[in-house]
Amino acid sequence: MGANKILLGCIADDFTGATDLANNLVRAGMRVVQTIHTPDQPLDTEADAVVVALKSRTIPAAEAVEQSLAALRWLQAQGAQQIYFKVCSTFDSTAQGNIGPVTEALMQALGARFAIATPAFPDNKRTVFKGYLFVGDVLLNESGMQNHPLTPMTDANLVRVLQAQSTKKVGLIDHAAVAQGAAAVQARMAELLAQGVGLAIVDAVSNADLLRMGPAFKDLPLLTAGSGVAIALPANFGIQPSSQAAELPAARGRQAIVSGSCSVATNQQVQDFIDRGGPALALDPLRIASGGDVVAEVLAWAEPLLDAGPVLIYSTAEPDAVRAIQQQLGVAEAGALVERTLAAIARGLVQRGVRQLVVAGGETSGACVQALAIAQMRIGAQIDPGVPWCFAAADVAPEGLHLTLKSGNFGTADFFSKAFAQLTP
Ligand code: ADP
Repeated sequence: MGANKILLGCIADDFTGATDLANNLVRAGMRVVQTIHTPDQPLDTEADAVVVALKSRTIPAAEAVEQSLAALRWLQAQGAQQIYFKVCSTFDSTAQGNIGPVTEALMQALGARFAIATPAFPDNKRTVFKGYLFVGDVLLNESGMQNHPLTPMTDANLVRVLQAQSTKKVGLIDHAAVAQGAAAVQARMAELLAQGVGLAIVDAVSNADLLRMGPAFKDLPLLTAGSGVAIALPANFGIQPSSQAAELPAARGRQAIVSGSCSVATNQQVQDFIDRGGPALALDPLRIASGGDVVAEVLAWAEPLLDAGPVLIYSTAEPDAVRAIQQQLGVAEAGALVERTLAAIARGLVQRGVRQLVVAGGETSGACVQALAIAQMRIGAQIDPGVPWCFAAADVAPEGLHLTLKSGNFGTADFFSKAFAQLTP
């Protein structure tokens, strides 16, 4: 068992969802560490909560259950008093799961007779009313999510959605109870339990709703939720919001940005950095494909510039250019090739003293974190909503580096310069 006892143990079904949850917990006052998969070592630092990031959203249900139970055992060994299964705020799942099967397996392992499930995240325009999930102003099944390639969401009624993938009876804690506060929510939970209901969707249309219901969940062994409910939990452990929770070691070392995201926001951010006169080098995927040693060339370009300020290496391109590359190389091949190259560049930059690293792109971030052999990250203050600075040890920087992992459309146009400015005291 680790020497540092945690309070809240979280299991996230994907990587950026894990960061999103960690960010909310930090803002509510908890010191949070995010791990990449379930660690084989005990937690090596003090934290109030740990978020284990899995990639279990769309894998076969039995595998998701197995991975989640392994994460549970590790979190329990670190002292976790309550478990939070973090799912997507659009409840991404199929009729086979994985939200229902994982929730039920965790309940069984925890001896829990009752658990709540709610993706409500009003800050992100995900609200639940009468059990129906709204994305912005429209129902889930009109939001575009009905066309998702892996988890098409064709029913906005979450009681029905969860029932289809659960063996326990699913009920609803509706807004009438939530509006009255924690005591009414608790009474409703007792009523549902007496009716043989084991899982309940919970309505919430505002942060006030989440904060009102929070105390009612104090003694539940398991919560299944998007990252919204997290804002109400630290208070149950006597923790108040404080800037200390987000404190990271002082920043030092060289600065760099590696961008493999082709999203609209990232294209603007790359342009903004160039417009400000920042040194930037574009990668040519065809040159990588033809076998040129692009990694060595890029690192040789960057080396003499690094002492003067941040450098940017990017494959970021407009949709037409991306399509042209994909037609020549294939979609998956182009993606994997660029990810591998950017990850090797990120590693080379850290070997050359970069200790403040911005990575743009969800998949790109996954590749970079893997290439740096990062296992645990402490979560710091957010730069923009959902994107915090993190601090992590890498194999080529065992004393640690600052990094931020920005997925696709997050962040304002000046994100790159803002990120470094935030680290400068
Ligand atoms: P986002 O978070 O914006 O979706 P990701 O990193 O998750 O960014 O995904 C972008 C994908 O596009 C990655 O697989 C990346 O390797 C690939 N990619 C990046 N640049 C190019 C390019 N110029 N041409 C083709 N594919 C690219």
